[in-house]
Amino acid sequence: MYPRAFHYHRASSLKEAVAMLSQLGDDAKLLAGGQSLIPLMKLRFANPQHLVDLNFVPGTSYIKEEGGALRFGALTRHAEIENSATAAKIPILHDCAAGIADVQVRNRGTIGGSLAEADPSGDWAVVLMTLSTEVCCLGAKKTRTVPLSDFIKDAYTTALAHDELVSEVVVKAPPKGSGGAYIAFKRSAPVYPTASAAVQLIMDGDVCKDVVIALGCVGLTAIKAKDAEAALRGQRITDKALSAAMEAARAAADPQSDMRGSTDYKRALVGALVKRAIEVAMRRAHGEQVEVGHIYA
Ligand SMILES: Cc1cc2nc3c(=O)[nH]c(=O)nc-3n(C[C@H](O)[C@H](O)[C@H](O)COP(=O)(O)OP(=O)(O)OC[C@H]3O[C@@H](n4cnc5c(N)ncnc54)[C@H](O)[C@@H]3O)c2cc1C
Repeated sequence: MYPRAFHYHRASSLKEAVAMLSQLGDDAKLLAGGQSLIPLMKLRFANPQHLVDLNFVPGTSYIKEEGGALRFGALTRHAEIENSATAAKIPILHDCAAGIADVQVRNRGTIGGSLAEADPSGDWAVVLMTLSTEVCCLGAKKTRTVPLSDFIKDAYTTALAHDELVSEVVVKAPPKGSGGAYIAFKRSAPVYPTASAAVQLIMDGDVCKDVVIALGCVGLTAIKAKDAEAALRGQRITDKALSAAMEAARAAADPQSDMRGSTDYKRALVGALVKRAIEVAMRRAHGEQVEVGHIYA
């Protein structure tokens, strides 16, 4: 289906895009990669009267290493992150970018658009939640920096005001001894995961000093599995500790039954994904180069 007619506006700077949003009001939407917005418009679930295109704003697509952090311009495409040696210094970022949909979607979709969309099935929020991540929000009067945990409010709901946009995403580099992994289970490449697990931990020998575990697609937003983290923190990662973390992750999940699987199925699945992600994260924390890919049905 074709979208309803709309007015197209091309912004030449992020400031101009914000000014356009203020001027055009609630009927205006930003266009980044278009990989969520355009399908919604074609299905007529979204019917904006004005589109403000960010794609011609110079200097919005970059990956910079600066002051112990990686900085991503809002329009940095998933594919640029997938192919970036700088981003690969935090391996969980590569796991995420390389597993999103297919090449076509990764070539267009952006990190800023993904966070702004806050799709409960989106991959970036799950992964970035395990790291120290801040979202820079540019408004008409000022830029504010919002921790990711405060940025995503609910399914499809963020802390952005109507006349604000995501200008940059800043990810602090994890400390020495860290390792992370992101594993999703998918029915095929160009679909969202059935469930996913992101783990970022710090090892001191064979003891887990600290860990963050986030679950994807099993709730309205990414879920922090706090009891699963507690089962590992300060412990040697034995089979018993792994089983306790798996069980706690299953208990933390709050999945909906849908075409991707039943509630029980997703709960069982997410526990297994957490276990695999912990195992890979541990090996990476010990300096091993481990390639990890999503699991396909
Ligand atoms: C077939 C298919 C499969 C997919 N599979 C996956 C998947 O497995 N995992 C996954 O994570 N994603 C998946 N996606 C979504 C894809 O990752 C999108 O890129 C992403 O959700 C949105 O990014 P975008 O740049 O395309 O945003 P757009 O579609 O352009 O915009 C999305 C929303 O965010 C707003 N927006 C965009 N940029 C900004 C900004 N800088 N500041 C504020 N608001 C902004 C827009 O106004 C709009 O409301 C899939 C998409 C398709 C079409």
